[in-house]
Amino acid sequence: MVKVLIDNGHGANTPGKRSPDGRLREYAYAREIAERLECELRKRGIDAERIVKEETDVPLAERVRRVNEYKASEAVLVSIHVNAAGMGDEWKQARGWECWTSPGRTKADRLATCLYDAARALGFKTREDTTDGDPDKEGHLYILKHTRCPAVLTENLFQDNREDVDLLLSAAGKASIVELHVKGITSFLMKNDE
Ligand SMILES: [Zn+2]
Repeated sequence: MVKVLIDNGHGANTPGKRSPDGRLREYAYAREIAERLECELRKRGIDAERIVKEETDVPLAERVRRVNEYKASEAVLVSIHVNAAGMGDEWKQARGWECWTSPGRTKADRLATCLYDAARALGFKTREDTTDGDPDKEGHLYILKHTRCPAVLTENLFQDNREDVDLLLSAAGKASIVELHVKGITSFLMKNDE
């Protein structure tokens, strides 16, 4: 069975990375979602584990080392973040959900597509790059580039958009963000088994 590795971005010691009013801190939010996701996946009989259980920021090289203890075929990685349009000192207009993979056609593209399908089904506004035939955004992000297994990074709405922060901090919003990941991951794993 494929193990679902969950990364939660940043740490209590990471500067910035919060809403302009200080209500949402990305590291804390990502950890809360990651813990709930791990729990929900396990309830469904899926082998899931967080790779960063510390509250502090664990360097990317160490995160990658933890992921690469698994062979490419043994795991998938989902790294959970909250987006920002500015420096966090003022509210911005950009909103919505997006998912990143490494450049080129990889298995991660299929996982990203499953997550996008789940995001749309749950009514999230999605931000897509369809120029290469799939919705995910592609870039040379360290954790995606240096890990061996299929890896995606989700940017779960914007920490400097007022409406997004209100939604993210609501009980319903948190449940939806968790559900999005559960639905996307389970649908990918089902297709993976076929
Ligand atoms: Zn982040």
